[in-house]
Amino acid sequence: MTVVRKTPGPAKHRLPGPPDVLELIMDCVGIHAAAKQPGCEEIRWFKSRPRAASVRVRRHTCDCQPVAYELCQAGGLMFVRRYDRSDGVLIEESEWLRPPAAEHLWTRILLGQSR
Ligand SMILES: [Zn+2]
Repeated sequence: MTVVRKTPGPAKHRLPGPPDVLELIMDCVGIHAAAKQPGCEEIRWFKSRPRAASVRVRRHTCDCQPVAYELCQAGGLMFVRRYDRSDGVLIEESEWLRPPAAEHLWTRILLGQSR
């Protein structure tokens, strides 16, 4: 099932001036996936379905971006979940893979070699 929800977009508007504690807290500490590289491979994204009782998020990209990714684990398999908030919220996932293949896919996404 595709989950589409209306949420406000990332708010990153700052007032000019010296950084304060709040700004330091709000600064990005997450990983930002690189821009799409030439020859970027198209990932086939599937509608997110509840396929496992529990899913663990092992890694994630920074939430400040309109599209964020999570490397998830469910039992012995892993997959990448994609949150696209450019128009509402669209949650999709990659195919479910064995951990080495999923880690490889995750790395390619971070490097902008797959999207
Ligand atoms: Zn960020």
